[in-house]
Amino acid sequence: MTDDTQMPLAAAQQSTRCFSAEDTVRAFLEPMHWTAAFVTYSSAARHFLHWLEISKIPIVDVDQSVIQRFADHDCSCQRYSADQVRDPYYVNRVRRFVRFLEDRGDIAVVKDVADMGQHLRRYGERLASSGYNRWSQRRLHSVAEHFGLWLRASRIGWHEVDASVVERFVRHDCGCGEGRKHGTIARTGIQRRRLGATRFIAFLRDRGVVARPVIAPGRDPVAQAFGDWLRQHRGATERTIENYVFITARFLPDLGSDPSCYDVATLRRIVLDQPPHFARASVGKVATVLRAFLRFQAANGRCRPELQHAVPYVTPYRLSVLPRYADPATIERIVAACSADTPARIRDRAIILLLARLGLRASDIWLMRITDIDWRQGLLRLHGKGRRSIRLPLPQDAGDAVAAYLDEVRPVIAEERLFLRLGAPFTPFASSSEISGILARHLVRAGIRGVPSGAHMFRHSLATRLLREGAGLEAVGAVLRHRSPDTTTVYAKVDIPMLQMIAQPWPGDLAC
Ligand SMILES: [Zn+2]
Ligand SMILES: [Zn+2]
Repeated sequence: MTDDTQMPLAAAQQSTRCFSAEDTVRAFLEPMHWTAAFVTYSSAARHFLHWLEISKIPIVDVDQSVIQRFADHDCSCQRYSADQVRDPYYVNRVRRFVRFLEDRGDIAVVKDVADMGQHLRRYGERLASSGYNRWSQRRLHSVAEHFGLWLRASRIGWHEVDASVVERFVRHDCGCGEGRKHGTIARTGIQRRRLGATRFIAFLRDRGVVARPVIAPGRDPVAQAFGDWLRQHRGATERTIENYVFITARFLPDLGSDPSCYDVATLRRIVLDQPPHFARASVGKVATVLRAFLRFQAANGRCRPELQHAVPYVTPYRLSVLPRYADPATIERIVAACSADTPARIRDRAIILLLARLGLRASDIWLMRITDIDWRQGLLRLHGKGRRSIRLPLPQDAGDAVAAYLDEVRPVIAEERLFLRLGAPFTPFASSSEISGILARHLVRAGIRGVPSGAHMFRHSLATRLLREGAGLEAVGAVLRHRSPDTTTVYAKVDIPMLQMIAQPWPGDLAC
């Protein structure tokens, strides 16, 4: 081969459409005419086509691994040198050329990855409208673009994207294209890739491009099937299912993969061998979940039904722990210390007032939706435990605080939840424990010490106050929305002398 501009390309002719190497290279270089890049791109493209031909690789078969083989080839091609091939920038020019061939249809790519540009444009619009600053927008967009390039080069379609694909992307040794950094990837780089890819996938899921995962990332399929069973046959709430599936995934490895081999000793060990810092209630929870799991397995004929009786019962010492509460004066100090001078404090004031005045659970606050407030009638709808919903009057100061939060802080976005994080993209809290975190920070800021931690403290305090003011257990139970009067009797232990003074009939039939 004396003149590579006349290179015949036997391999390329196997392509379905008529492939002319010369026309192709010319079209590729067209936009680069009269630029400095012209010579190097021209050499890379022609070298690659030449190497494909002598290696007898049809152009339609080109993918990531072929490019890698080219980068590793011990070059003795005429007019070209091994030094060129060792230069990562040279190989990147080849990648750019391959992308050009993909765009033209000379190399088939997975079809659904082809509309990448359109998805990226929409994603950019979404990022801009979600309130990200310009720097974050650019960074997230860049990772999304990178992810798309990598998928395309790896011949992976959107419909195949799942957690393991994301992990492969996160850890890939990048050679995706010109302008990207090379070398070993740092931890922040890995996190950035993972975050960026996950956000982009979430966006594509919303648009229906990527299927919703049947199996949550990292979850055992058996645990997941158990979750589905709880949903269908037990009517459990999503929160409960999540919790049960999480606990199940933890003990499944101990249980082993064959249900017919479950034995009593293992079941007892799973419940009783818990770390010493585990609260008794948590141990009891493991036992409850394990029993439910065995019922699920037995219902499907996979294990003996009597096994569930082998799971030890853990007495929760229900009446042995006094609820932790603060006196009314302290509660008022906590409320009075809520200033409203920054967006964060305006939001936190609304949350703390709702907790203090209504004795709400942290999860009530977490799940509260804008539409749960009926401003005309001054009512607040709550979705209690186990899918019950009730309405409570909204006290004046709590209502004012919520109104201030809505007016001055909460962005107007298409999100149902009332309380959101303060920075873009203004997502709801990840769990109810963030509510307790808000309270803890407030107490530190206000310098109030000696108060029990956790949002439940307000609930306990309200119950105790009501009892002291002479309300019956039934009334207290109604305010706290307890399903069973047993739960309310916990508060009755708080103050024995006070209890002796109230002459209310004991609700339910408690043996004592
Ligand atoms: Zn070569
Ligand atoms: Zn890459």
